Amino acid sequence: MHSLLDVQKGYSYKTLILMRNLLTTMILLGILFSNDSPYVVVLGIAQDGGMPHAGCEKTCCKGLWMTNNGEKVSCIGIVDPRTKKSWMIDATPDLPEQLRTLTLIHKTELAGIFLTHAHMGHYIGLLQLGREVMGAENIPIFAMPKMKSFLENNGPWSQLLELENIKIESLKDGKELKIGKQLFIEPFLVPHRDEYSETVGYRIMGPEKSLIYIPDIDKWGKWEQNIFQIVMNIDIALIDGTFFSQDELPHRNMNEIPHPFITESIETLFGLSTPHRNKVHFIHLNHSNPAIKRDSAAGNYITSKRFNIARENNQFNL
Ligand SMILES: [Zn+2]
Ligand SMILES: [Zn+2]
Ligand SMILES: [Zn+2]
Repeated sequence: MHSLLDVQKGYSYKTLILMRNLLTTMILLGILFSNDSPYVVVLGIAQDGGMPHAGCEKTCCKGLWMTNNGEKVSCIGIVDPRTKKSWMIDATPDLPEQLRTLTLIHKTELAGIFLTHAHMGHYIGLLQLGREVMGAENIPIFAMPKMKSFLENNGPWSQLLELENIKIESLKDGKELKIGKQLFIEPFLVPHRDEYSETVGYRIMGPEKSLIYIPDIDKWGKWEQNIFQIVMNIDIALIDGTFFSQDELPHRNMNEIPHPFITESIETLFGLSTPHRNKVHFIHLNHSNPAIKRDSAAGNYITSKRFNIARENNQFNL
């Protein structure tokens, strides 16, 4: 016969086993379902010239020369915590800080850079990989055909190839590339001032969500694809928000630097229901764009219409 004490002991033992099993299961479930899914992080939101902007002493930039409160040039990072790898889209003039954020804060190793086009805000950061600075070894640079031959045939970019600081991986319009488990990226051509290279945007597809990134495009109407349909079928859209409206740069001919004004994009996409409009985040904002400042009337107008302005360090799970 068991004494009462034995029964109590037996019960406690069983409870202990149960608790141990429960704990093991919880840890295993934790590992299985812990949020280590890939994500995109915004590393900069400004147009090519950044903010403060060279030569600008107007109210937009005046107070920023002495402080560190400007905006870095548009760039996004793709982070895969499962493999601790990351990729940048574009090598901007702010690459040093953006690379540091990606590697140190997000604890990853840079696995490559995808380029959109050969305008200064999108590729000159490649020089940081060269002999004078990092002396990097064979960093994969993903580029479209014209961009590739531009880098191969012009100094100082060609020197990066000669010294094997970088190696070029060829991209093809509309062809997706696998960069991780259930993680894909696909370039697509967009109309833009293609002086030295073609221009692409990227579609990034993760295990659960997809995102498009189009920092530069001339006008939505010049594109063979339909931005309205694209936003409907994507989860997050980071799109060209260079200028807010028509009369933003009185001293420049806006036809020479065409972009869809934010007001035009809002008009184009206003037929979408609120949940779809919410997917849109304007990025690549010029220093003159009033919405680049937080809590601006222009910014409030955008959010009142249920659209967003991308901000540095925004994260989007894929
Ligand atoms: Zn640009
Ligand atoms: Zn300015
Ligand atoms: Zn451009």
